[in-house]
Amino acid sequence: MVELGALIFDFDGTIADSEPYHLAAFQRTFSAELGLELTEAQYRDRYLAYDDRMMMRTFLDDRDVALSPDRFGRLLDVKEAHYKDLAQDPPILPGVADLIRAASARWPLAVASGALEAEIRPVLAGAELLEYFETIVSAEMVERGKPHPESFLTALERLNGGRADAILPAACLVLEDSVAGVGAGRAAGMRVLAVTTSFPRDQLGEADRVVDSLEEIAGADALVAWFSSLSGSW
Ligand SMILES: [Mg+2]
Repeated sequence: MVELGALIFDFDGTIADSEPYHLAAFQRTFSAELGLELTEAQYRDRYLAYDDRMMMRTFLDDRDVALSPDRFGRLLDVKEAHYKDLAQDPPILPGVADLIRAASARWPLAVASGALEAEIRPVLAGAELLEYFETIVSAEMVERGKPHPESFLTALERLNGGRADAILPAACLVLEDSVAGVGAGRAAGMRVLAVTTSFPRDQLGEADRVVDSLEEIAGADALVAWFSSLSGSW
């Protein structure tokens, strides 16, 4: 039996209800800078889990647009600035704060996100949740974003940094809202709990469990019992 050893949270759409602001920031950027349209459905189905760099590279490839490295860098800056304007104070999703507080008393917690560090820390600090996380892995800290498992494995490496008994990937629970993020968690050899903020339940089937809201997680004891019951069933 594998006991739960750590929780690793995605940020956008899992902790903060921030995806609508990312979409709006990309839409403004592409429309004003390139005259290109990005619909909500396109964003959700193809680009949502990517960090900004990967999102833009994929979006431009899809439309056969080639930009110089300078222009590409400027586009990233414009998007980041729009996001900052739009997402002054994105709301924390229901049930998240209670779960983070309860879980932090039992397990080390990390964030592994494709968002920028400056987009994550102020939101957690504003919600008085920053202190509960041992480490935050943001887009700047990894080479390959989700669906690659690097961000989750980096978070675990950092959690294990000073620990005598290393936590194994199989003892980690990833909390995610995107299809690619669920895939990244599985590819890291971790268990995944998915929440339907951004995708319908039937698209998140690769997760070990899908909930409509983290409010459904009724405390740390229920999490322990559920996690232990998973053993063997990959
Ligand atoms: Mg997400």
